[in-house]
Amino acid sequence: MDLTKFIRDIPDFPKPGIIFKDITPLLKSHDATSYAVNRIYEHYADAGITAVAGIESRGFIFGCPVAGLFGVGFIPIRKPGKLPYDTHSEEYELEYGTDCVEMHIDAMGPDDKILIVDDLLATGGTAAATGNLIRKTGAHIAGFSFVVELEFLNGAEKLGDIPILSLIKYS
Ligand code: AMP
Repeated sequence: MDLTKFIRDIPDFPKPGIIFKDITPLLKSHDATSYAVNRIYEHYADAGITAVAGIESRGFIFGCPVAGLFGVGFIPIRKPGKLPYDTHSEEYELEYGTDCVEMHIDAMGPDDKILIVDDLLATGGTAAATGNLIRKTGAHIAGFSFVVELEFLNGAEKLGDIPILSLIKYS
């Protein structure tokens, strides 16, 4: 299936110069969403995944059904101040200023093999910070998966040697 047909380019959103990759046409199609989720599962089926971590917020949309296919739990990686219990947090640089990702301290541990899921890899800052956050618990990162990768932003370089699956790549 050609998933690129389900990604809509929105120029100058949320600010001038950015081409926003809108995934809502994909989500509207059960067949396309199910195909995407199954491909992520099949790619990592033999990786011994014990939990799926999804990055707020579009990583939740894909991460939850992927966790369901693995038959494992889902861990939300959230923006600051959203989680109610004690958290680990990891700051990262943005073009202007910093941002932060957080996770509950008891979400995972050294025996876990985690698949990190988000909708899109751009500069890689968010995904790399999520990797650092997960390492604080001693958990092993089995891989990253994205529906879309903007290859020209070289985000993969920030993710080190960890396997990356991107269903659609824009070079
Ligand atoms: P980054 O940290 O630069 O890799 O940005 C990744 C996060 O920002 C992902 O969670 C995406 O949802 C969002 N994002 C960044 N750039 C775009 C874009 N051009 N279109 C849609 N979402 C984007």
